[in-house]
Amino acid sequence: MPELPARSVTLFRLPAEAHARRGVAVSVGLALGVPLADALVLIDELPTRLPMPLAPDQASDLISRITKLGGEARDDAAALMTHLPCSAHPSLRAGEICDKCGANICVVCARRTRPARLCTGCASKKRRSRRFYLVRVGVLLSILALVVLYAVHDLRSRHARTDWRRPVSAALVVVRRGPVDDLAIQSLRERIPRLQGALQSECARYRSCPTEPIFFRVYGPIDAAEPPAPSGEGVLDLAQQSWAMWRYSRAVDARAGVDTGGTDAKIYLVVRPPEDEHRRFVEGFGELGGRLGAVSVELDPSMVDFALFVATHELLHTLGATDKYDPSGHVVAPAGLAEPDLVPVYPQLRAEVMARLRPIGPSAQVPPETLAELGIGPVTAREIGWTQ
Ligand SMILES: [Zn+2]
Ligand SMILES: [Zn+2]
Ligand SMILES: [Zn+2]
Repeated sequence: MPELPARSVTLFRLPAEAHARRGVAVSVGLALGVPLADALVLIDELPTRLPMPLAPDQASDLISRITKLGGEARDDAAALMTHLPCSAHPSLRAGEICDKCGANICVVCARRTRPARLCTGCASKKRRSRRFYLVRVGVLLSILALVVLYAVHDLRSRHARTDWRRPVSAALVVVRRGPVDDLAIQSLRERIPRLQGALQSECARYRSCPTEPIFFRVYGPIDAAEPPAPSGEGVLDLAQQSWAMWRYSRAVDARAGVDTGGTDAKIYLVVRPPEDEHRRFVEGFGELGGRLGAVSVELDPSMVDFALFVATHELLHTLGATDKYDPSGHVVAPAGLAEPDLVPVYPQLRAEVMARLRPIGPSAQVPPETLAELGIGPVTAREIGWTQ
């Protein structure tokens, strides 16, 4: 008896009842030799031409089962069906191709990966990369959360520095570059109480103050490199500077034995022997509202008070104070006056710490000679939280 040509079954309608629909899926799965899960995908959207030619008796058997369950299916000649097998289901015929790699895929594969139509290889690659993407996003979000938490915490504790209910604790780390006079360094330590006294009496002009509104601890001297200098104003420059400064301070603090836990701000005081008989070099930088500052000074005994004056200038930057001199170095009045209400205004008796110089006339100014001339004007006092 000659073999009859194969038939192709198309499913048009499912029974209304869920149990019967499942019965259709089981019958389709058995007829095609695929797992129930694949059969369920096949009957999910109708009409569906089942992707495998069936022998005529198998086909009529399947159709009668489906009809009995309340569904509708018909068969026709399978001649029009492709001969290419699905790359994932070798027993099924491929009706489509993978969007990614062009592999032959069957309708089950295509429907499983909608809206794209993918072979199993490409689909699992996509799942992996999605998983990887989610992991990456997760890691980035955790880092971001940590950074925000740290920033909030740091901001809170930096704000707490300027509520002045307790003294601000400042570390003055002396970094020595070359043969600096030991007497000068010793005198630096000895003048600290005088500096604290000057700050206390300035604070008392504005409010009731702790005995030492700013408490300095001197560390060192240690022989080390200069702190990294700021390179520019851009965000990247600042980030790079913060990073370089962080690394620098970690190394230097360890060597100097700085108690970083209880310190609100740190100033690195770089001392060098004077190069010129008649000129003393001082410069510094402090992070506005940050925690670190640096001062570089050619130190001899005559320069000790001015070095401490400039260190205080940088320290007050870290507490939020801004400069009170113009680009050419002139004191800006009245913000840069320690006592703007003085009558007559000039000569001022003190040098405003953020202006650095003591104005003796509207356009004449001199450097402060001793810490007794250290003054804090109303604008700086407001910036650092001494007044509202
Ligand atoms: Zn593919
Ligand atoms: Zn397939
Ligand atoms: Zn400054």
